[in-house]
Amino acid sequence: MGVFDKAKTVSHLGAEERGPYICLECEESFEVLYHSCPVCDAYDVRRAKWVE
Ligand SMILES: [Zn+2]
Repeated sequence: MGVFDKAKTVSHLGAEERGPYICLECEESFEVLYHSCPVCDAYDVRRAKWVE
């Protein structure tokens, strides 16, 4: 079951298998809620369920 490990950084909007939080700018997902995205510095990190 190594498929998800490789796919999660490139998959788009498959919210259920990803972290609970997602950056709306770069679509990276996270296990914790960041005030700003550590990847692209956007202030649009939301719960993935809110943007499905
Ligand atoms: Zn981002």
